[in-house]
Amino acid sequence: MPVDRLPLASCLGLVLAEDAVAPISLPPFDNSAMDGYAVRAADVAAAPVELPVADDIPAGKTDVVPLEPGTAHRIMTGAPMPPGADAVIQVELTDAGTSRVTLNASVPAGQNVRRTADDVRAGATVLSAGTVLRPAQLGLLAALGFAELPVRRRPRVLVLSTGSELVEPGQPLLPGQIYESNGLMLATAVREAGGEATLLRFVPDDAAEFHAALAPHLGSADVILTSGGVSAGAYEVVKDAFTGRGVEFTRVAMQPGGPQGAGTYEGVAVVTLPGNPVSAQVSFEVFVRPALLASMGHPVVERHTAQAALTSAITSPKGKTQFRRGAYDPESNEVVTPVGGPGSHLLSALALSNCLIEVPEDATDLPAGSKVTIRMLW
Ligand code: AMP
Ligand code: MG
Repeated sequence: MPVDRLPLASCLGLVLAEDAVAPISLPPFDNSAMDGYAVRAADVAAAPVELPVADDIPAGKTDVVPLEPGTAHRIMTGAPMPPGADAVIQVELTDAGTSRVTLNASVPAGQNVRRTADDVRAGATVLSAGTVLRPAQLGLLAALGFAELPVRRRPRVLVLSTGSELVEPGQPLLPGQIYESNGLMLATAVREAGGEATLLRFVPDDAAEFHAALAPHLGSADVILTSGGVSAGAYEVVKDAFTGRGVEFTRVAMQPGGPQGAGTYEGVAVVTLPGNPVSAQVSFEVFVRPALLASMGHPVVERHTAQAALTSAITSPKGKTQFRRGAYDPESNEVVTPVGGPGSHLLSALALSNCLIEVPEDATDLPAGSKVTIRMLW
């Protein structure tokens, strides 16, 4: 993805495209770490002592007068230290006076003073290109005065579902119809991965309607993500619409998610996922999510993986990598429980799982206790 300059509030989860160099130091000036009294440490060495309070320095005061020897300035946390003062006595160690104050403790020079550049020195590289911007990084860059950041922008993904059997949730169903669910699932998965999703209204199995739904949006999209219409049946609308137009259809040695297509149509990247909801979502995890993250410059594009022992046996077809749905309990001594069977229509099992169990191509029978690799879905 190209680099854009975006306001910080739009940068959560994006990747910094250039090193961030501190334009100022942090703190930018010596300031008090406590509510209390700015003094010269030498003046309070014989505490308790009483000093006149010569000034009052709230946070934000920009014209601080120097502290004369033998006086104290009342000062608040974050307020600039007056020149001449070298320590702060916290208010709890005083009588909190406003014209004169009794200071009940002595302090070494430097006590309760936050020094200029304690945290960051102006000119230092604070975050390097490739850093993922999370709240703490954004907070730091705001503290340094950045209003915009150079980031790889979010890929804009058109999500289009296909199927003459599909009905919008909220409408009544006729016999033979089902509610459309892939569109919402894939669009939210795109957003969760950091992309921008436009959820188009699904189309029936008709190539002309398919093209008509896409055409108005092609100019503003980076990726077209479809579901359904790519397998071996008689009404494979996505195959019909894209064959010979830059998209290649194939079968992948995995279960679920065998039928797949990918390519470029009118300059826009295309991924055509199978229609079974679990196939679509698992394919998104395996192929699309890493690609979206890579396009934004993320240093890590794969989910966290772990090794866990199966609590029950599973079988898997020879020659295919199988992704079974699993429930992993991090407290349970690294075991994973398969949820539901291998069927790619078992959406509730997917919804009850938090990981994918990866069964290698050559494994066909895994007894309970077998160690498997799991991919966390969080
Ligand atoms: P297809 O890949 O079009 O042959 O669809 C495979 C299965 O997934 C069929 O049972 C479809 O009804 C179902 N399906 C396809 N698209 C969707 C969708 N958007 N929402 C829910 N189910 C779907
Ligand atoms: Mg279909």
